[in-house]
Amino acid sequence: MAGPPRLLREVFRERFGMAPECLFRAPGRINLIGEHTDYNLGFVVPVALDLACYTAVSSNGCGQLRVFSANQNEAVEWPISSIASAPPRGHWSDYVLGVARELVRAGYDVPSCNLLVSSTVPTGAGLSSSAALEVSVALALLGDRKMDPLELALLCRRAENEFVGMPCGIMDQYISVFGREGAAVKIDCRSLEHEIVPLPPGMEIVAVNSMVKHELGSSAYRDRVRECGEAVDAVRRRRPEVTSLRDVTSTDLRTFASEMAPVPFRRARHVTTENARVEAFVEACRRCDLAAMGELLVASHRSLQHDYEVSCEELDFLVDTALSVPGVLGARMTGGGFGGCTVNLIAAGHAAAFVRAIQSAYRERFGVTPECYLCRPAAGAAEVRTV
Ligand code: ADP
Ligand code: MG
Repeated sequence: MAGPPRLLREVFRERFGMAPECLFRAPGRINLIGEHTDYNLGFVVPVALDLACYTAVSSNGCGQLRVFSANQNEAVEWPISSIASAPPRGHWSDYVLGVARELVRAGYDVPSCNLLVSSTVPTGAGLSSSAALEVSVALALLGDRKMDPLELALLCRRAENEFVGMPCGIMDQYISVFGREGAAVKIDCRSLEHEIVPLPPGMEIVAVNSMVKHELGSSAYRDRVRECGEAVDAVRRRRPEVTSLRDVTSTDLRTFASEMAPVPFRRARHVTTENARVEAFVEACRRCDLAAMGELLVASHRSLQHDYEVSCEELDFLVDTALSVPGVLGARMTGGGFGGCTVNLIAAGHAAAFVRAIQSAYRERFGVTPECYLCRPAAGAAEVRTV
């Protein structure tokens, strides 16, 4: 913890001419398995990372909410009285104002204060810098007022859905709040309950950033939501109790295959098989079966590539290349797709050689060096108590 907090104190003093009173940390995440299942009310298995957003705070008594992002090197401020009514402007500060606005809507006063935000989560890489920012800012604005952790995650998601305008599922904010050191968390996106899944010894997790984000992403996301809805409608005509793909098993899907168009069928096949892979992955974790865990990651990738069609040339190259590197147990794209990161499960001791191999192969093929992040499963958001 020595690095970011110490630096933050100095920057805070320079920026605001006073010392911060408190410091909060909220982690980014990587999703091990369970992709495009969250908005279908299924299961996901993310881990919170030691990469995190830090927000330092002190009261300023001048009736303004001020925020400076060290990452953006930019300051923004709003009169406290305008928080409930100020509109979004397609700017990074929307995440901060969105959280402040949701706090007001939930009946909490937003204090007149200075915030300094500094994050080690790479932005826009699919490791959820946005939820880390939201959750750390929410905690900083709450100060010593307590909020139920699930309510906190839901509030931050509303800020992103309704104010920023990004229709994300609950996973990112949930894991940022509920992360556990050394473990993954299996989240039931319907009941919003979770189960801690300790990770076996002998493995490392490495994220590889494709450094691309194809434009297709947001329109394809809307298409997938619609196509999954079409598959649900087809099943519902025979089984009215079905309300989401969560209620559909692989066997059901085979039964109703002839009643839906080929594309919704393949989308639904991804979601139902992915939910089954989550269960199998959690069991493999519990019996420390690293080989089975790795195979399930690869099966997930193939399903995302061929059935859900949200991969891209760069992600497929990273996965295929990873599978030829010694010590790699499995790999798949993680996050929404069309760019962002792959998640790689590596036998302990092989991570450094893996990073060298994948960087050089990718550079040769695409002319850019992919950033790699060693992912240490870390605890969820909390106040950082430094000396
Ligand atoms: P991801 O969450 O995968 O990193 P998003 O597109 O959801 O990608 O969120 C990234 C956006 O969040 C950035 O473009 C920026 O607007 C905002 N953001 C994240 N972290 C910070 C930060 N430390 N300072 C300012 N803005 C940030
Ligand atoms: Mg995000």
